[in-house]
Amino acid sequence: MIIAIDGPAASGKGTLARRLARHFNLPHLDTGLLYRATAYAMLKKGEDLADHAAAVAAARGLNLSTLDPELLRGGEVGQAASIVAAIPQVRAALRDLQRDFASTPGGAVLDGRDIGTEICPEADIKIFVTASLSARALRRANELYGQTAEAHLATIRDEIQARDERDANRAVAPFHAAPDAVVLDTTELDRDGAFAAALSIVDVQARPLAS
Ligand code: C5P
Repeated sequence: MIIAIDGPAASGKGTLARRLARHFNLPHLDTGLLYRATAYAMLKKGEDLADHAAAVAAARGLNLSTLDPELLRGGEVGQAASIVAAIPQVRAALRDLQRDFASTPGGAVLDGRDIGTEICPEADIKIFVTASLSARALRRANELYGQTAEAHLATIRDEIQARDERDANRAVAPFHAAPDAVVLDTTELDRDGAFAAALSIVDVQARPLAS
């Protein structure tokens, strides 16, 4: 069973994907980390994010087993990731890696922006996780800054909005819900509520698999 989870920044898709993977005992790939790691490698070397050749080389040099989510989770890396993610050759360079992961025997859970539309259009389960901009900004601020979240809220909101727009308007694989995805709005849900709702979606979408 392949489960594709797509959604905008801070929608809760990563948490949900990890939890579904644990529940169904499937491997999980956070595909945003691939774009983040590509951008991070370039920033570290002082390379220009608009340099397509350097971006492709960074993408090709990635090693799935050494990705460090802690190192890659910051806002600056997220913005840089969405810049390199708009380069068609970078997306092409990362495609096989994601396809290989998805073809793990027994299935896999992948989360990102284009899993249900481009990487695994054949996925058995497709969930498009979303939430209001304010809810997403608050979650991200709490996650990154804890008690001082309030002071960073406006900046984070602007960053997320800029990233949403760049991801939705890029020429290649623009971010949108697959027509056959079920939309899960988590604005009013806590983590357990979102997980319960996702499980019901899986249950309904997986029924044809069982028959
Ligand atoms: O999900 P996350 O916020 O870590 O993703 C960082 C950036 O990577 C996104 O803003 C998007 O530009 C890019 N991305 C993508 N396709 C994916 C996953 C992430 O374009 N499947």
